[in-house]
Amino acid sequence: MTLSRGRDYLAIPGPSVVPDRVLQAMHRAAPNIYEGPLVELTRSVVANLKRVARTEGEVAIYIANGHGTWEAAISNIFAPGDTALVLSTGRFAAGWGEAARAHGVRIATLDFGMHEPADPARVQDALWADQEHRIKAVLVVQTDTASSVKNDVAALRAAIDAAGHPALFMVDCIASLACERFEMDAWGVDVMVAASQKGLMTPPGVGFTFHNGKAAAVRAGNPVRSLYWDWAPRVAPERFYQYFGGTAPTHHLFGLRAALDMLEEEGLEACWTRHETHARAVWTAVETWGGGGPLRLNIAEPAARSTAVTTITAKGHDMARLRHWCSENTGLTLGIGLGFEEPEWCGGDSVFRIGHMGHVNPPMILGALATVEAGMQALEIPHRRGGVGAAAEVVAAAAPAR
Ligand SMILES: *Cc1c(COP(=O)(O)O)cnc(C)c1O
Repeated sequence: MTLSRGRDYLAIPGPSVVPDRVLQAMHRAAPNIYEGPLVELTRSVVANLKRVARTEGEVAIYIANGHGTWEAAISNIFAPGDTALVLSTGRFAAGWGEAARAHGVRIATLDFGMHEPADPARVQDALWADQEHRIKAVLVVQTDTASSVKNDVAALRAAIDAAGHPALFMVDCIASLACERFEMDAWGVDVMVAASQKGLMTPPGVGFTFHNGKAAAVRAGNPVRSLYWDWAPRVAPERFYQYFGGTAPTHHLFGLRAALDMLEEEGLEACWTRHETHARAVWTAVETWGGGGPLRLNIAEPAARSTAVTTITAKGHDMARLRHWCSENTGLTLGIGLGFEEPEWCGGDSVFRIGHMGHVNPPMILGALATVEAGMQALEIPHRRGGVGAAAEVVAAAAPAR
């Protein structure tokens, strides 16, 4: 019997929940793409995106998902035969590296596995060993959405500097922008990629590359160039269509404007704190459940956990059953396990993820946790009771009585 009436909750790590205000902003007649409100609105979106990324650099907008922004960044920075150093901490940096390899880039990988952040000391050693400076760029993700690890972006920059290496520093913030503290300029990031459908609360379909002057100089010296992916005309358009290399993503721009307004009203710092509170509620629940059963947080070290998504393992148990129980009976959709290929993880079925990025609040997070706890009871998955109560305490402590 399904109990699911009311609003479904897609608690996967992207696409995230789309606020009504964003949906309503998109619900309109097709606008003029040559003049009028859309042109002004686009300028304001560009300025606002830079504030969210904490950069005075440039942002280029693409009609693309995250994979498209990978391609955009690769196409501007690399020529076939160049070398990139990929810091693999799950699945997504490796995926970015594979996209670069298809572009003819030689890939050197430092693999940190599925449970740890990238170690700055190993990065420094690898760059130090490259005395001829063949490595043109270092590729990393801030949040790896498969492992839910958070890499220490500032520490990795310091490692590059300590090695005295000129490589560009390229960071994928697709899962983390507007969920996790990120300071593009202060942290010395040269290229950053992001997309609309995670912390930015807008349906998938627009993606962004941010770059600084150092990256612009590398792009200018690149002997190959893609007319479509080239970011230079997009950041200094003479005609409106050049922002997008063609037709504007009309309705997405209205949606994104509304989402950015919501972020401005909340304040970026408050938004990061809210994400941290929700993440801690999830971690506390899982740790409580794990006191009497197989559930574990995939990332043991709290400082290395993403505040946008949590990966939960249950060795020897079929968590796909739990996911199906939740979606069929309650309207809650949990994330699948990604990147856990070894047989011990049952093809990823003993892993699931809870996305807690973007437009979420305690009723949604505590509701999702309570639903998971109900599912474990219904399916007789061993766990210690009380995970939801422990999560409620985290929420209470974050919002004390005045
Ligand atoms: C979601 C995600 C991607 C891929 O984005 P798509 O929009 O699915 O192409 C890349 N990197 C990270 C870190 C992600 O979370």
